[in-house]
Amino acid sequence: MKKTLLLLLFGFHSSFLFSQSIDSKKLLQHIEFLSSDELAGRKPLSEGSFAARRYILEELTSYPNVEPLYPDFTQRFSFVSGRDLKKYEDAANLVAFIPGSSSRKVIVISAHYDHVGIGRPNAAGDSIFNGADDNASGTAALITLAEYFSKNRPTHSMMFVALDAEELGLRGAKALVDDFPYPLEQILLNVNMDMVSRSDKNELYASGTFHNPHLKPILEKVAVGSDPKLLLGHDIPGTGSDDWTKSSDHGAFFDKKVPHLYFGVEDHEDYHKPSDEFENIQPEFYIKAVNLILKCILALDSELYNEK
Ligand SMILES: [Zn+2]
Repeated sequence: MKKTLLLLLFGFHSSFLFSQSIDSKKLLQHIEFLSSDELAGRKPLSEGSFAARRYILEELTSYPNVEPLYPDFTQRFSFVSGRDLKKYEDAANLVAFIPGSSSRKVIVISAHYDHVGIGRPNAAGDSIFNGADDNASGTAALITLAEYFSKNRPTHSMMFVALDAEELGLRGAKALVDDFPYPLEQILLNVNMDMVSRSDKNELYASGTFHNPHLKPILEKVAVGSDPKLLLGHDIPGTGSDDWTKSSDHGAFFDKKVPHLYFGVEDHEDYHKPSDEFENIQPEFYIKAVNLILKCILALDSELYNEK
């Protein structure tokens, strides 16, 4: 009897420890591969993008309790880009679903995996825009969080979406909300991540509480003494580029009146340059930032449960 109790306690204790953090080693492996020269900047429908798709799908489908909502876990869509006037056929969002324990409401966790590909070489002769921070960092975080929640069942259902073609005008996110597998009212919240791997000031922003004030007290609690510093803001209308409400894929959810929260850092010197590469991310900040995002999601998942 005593033995059983000890085992139970030990079992509870170790799973409790595990359930507090992400697999940081795998997080760094994911971002290193996704931002490698081999993937050549992950422009939609390029060979590098296809390699990124294979990698993300292989990961997502290898975890327990993960279900498809689209054939082959892939939502295909096409569009004509206003930027290069090209038709993009069969762009692809990669979607993994983890059923919640108690609520049919869905938290949609998103990050775009595309970047801008190959461009004009810089002074060092580098023409590959690796997009390590933008947004291999969010994509690797997405994969790692999906693995976490596949083993630690959330209260609400969770949809993990690696979005395509953000750089061409939030195309993947727009395609997702236009062809969503459930009524949009069933979405509790979109949590979007875009650029989360470096900050000289050790700051991570959560943007969106101006429009979604019910999220504010929950995040303020998590922010007390957090490392990195969790700041709310960058969401006041009329403040120009300081307002991030439409700066990434969460903008497509905002346009459909779905509550959103966007995690990101302020722009840095390597933003949209070939030098946004793995060597220039800050691994220590990155690991802490993704653990902080996990903490926020866990708080939201439990504290929003009784409200709806
Ligand atoms: Zn981005």
